[in-house]
Amino acid sequence: MEHPPWRRRVVQKCSKYRNIILILVAAVKFFASLTINRCHVIKLCSLWGQATGRPFPFSHVLVSPLVLRNGILPVLYKYRRHCTVMFDSGGFHIQQKVLRMQHASEQLATFYCTHDWADIYVLPDYPLTSTDSVRQIAYKLRVTARGYLSFASRLPPAFSSKLLPVVHGLTSRQVKRSVTEALKLRPRRLGFGSFGTSGARSAVNFLTSDSISMLSVFAGLCVTNRVTSHVFGVGGPASICVLRYIPVDSFDTAGWIRAAAYGHVYVPFLGAVNVTGKSASHRYMSRREFRRVLGYTGHCCPFCDDDALLRESWHYRALHNFAVLFELNHRLSKMRATDALKQLSSINRRYGGYLATVLDEKRFAVRRAMTKT
Ligand SMILES: [Zn+2]
Repeated sequence: MEHPPWRRRVVQKCSKYRNIILILVAAVKFFASLTINRCHVIKLCSLWGQATGRPFPFSHVLVSPLVLRNGILPVLYKYRRHCTVMFDSGGFHIQQKVLRMQHASEQLATFYCTHDWADIYVLPDYPLTSTDSVRQIAYKLRVTARGYLSFASRLPPAFSSKLLPVVHGLTSRQVKRSVTEALKLRPRRLGFGSFGTSGARSAVNFLTSDSISMLSVFAGLCVTNRVTSHVFGVGGPASICVLRYIPVDSFDTAGWIRAAAYGHVYVPFLGAVNVTGKSASHRYMSRREFRRVLGYTGHCCPFCDDDALLRESWHYRALHNFAVLFELNHRLSKMRATDALKQLSSINRRYGGYLATVLDEKRFAVRRAMTKT
């Protein structure tokens, strides 16, 4: 079969990596961000239990205590032995201007001190947005860096091994400086939160070639300093292919729930498509086309079997989206970089380009290291 010109270029690009990069590491940990009410969590768990025989789908969960929905904490407390729980600082909500930094820090310190059973505690940060001026960026970076030590000093010493400072920066110099400040806490892990933003109140994070470059700098510094790396608020079915090969150790996302609420379902490697016919922002995919694309990507799960349920119930869409991320993340952990690049590029040209750039940089780094030795 004759490929279109763009596809031929991708195939040529894929063959470049054939002999050089075979990255096989453990799966990136996926923290499911639970920004829903208790009744919805119970419904999701019930549907998951009926289909899989396991009562709780989440092995890693992130929640923002300052904007917690009703009744989530007791559910997480109940499953805390089976699930890694991360308390988020609410940086996303500061980014959206729902919370103010000073107020959030005070409330958060009080909350953390009275809930010492979680596994990871995120330090307050002041996220950058795509519309910030140079002056605003400098101010936000200063506030975040100053806050690392002052916030940590309000918590008992037992928290120190569980703290996760969040690093920001739009240039490698800013990222390096932010990492240096964060490392003064001697943390076991660092987070990165400077991605492109879009939508009302900068609500949606997404990867750009610039943010991928900064993420690579960040991940490299984490390896050098022997701390694990986490990325905040990014992790769709295309972006996790890129995150996996940077590589980072963990990511979190609420995108699987948000997409389901808007009538969207995930397709591995591609992203979200609409199945309810009620979206102006996402492409509508007919039942027949959706089945064909899922077949091509090799996905099947109990939650997308029934087309009518998928269209009518956001719980089914959410669990299908969760299953896509879970399954794809696992598949990627066993996949050669060349194969991932080939598959991603054939379905999602933009993210295929991102991954090609990441792998190119790795190839350059490997060659440079070999020349030195
Ligand atoms: Zn499915």
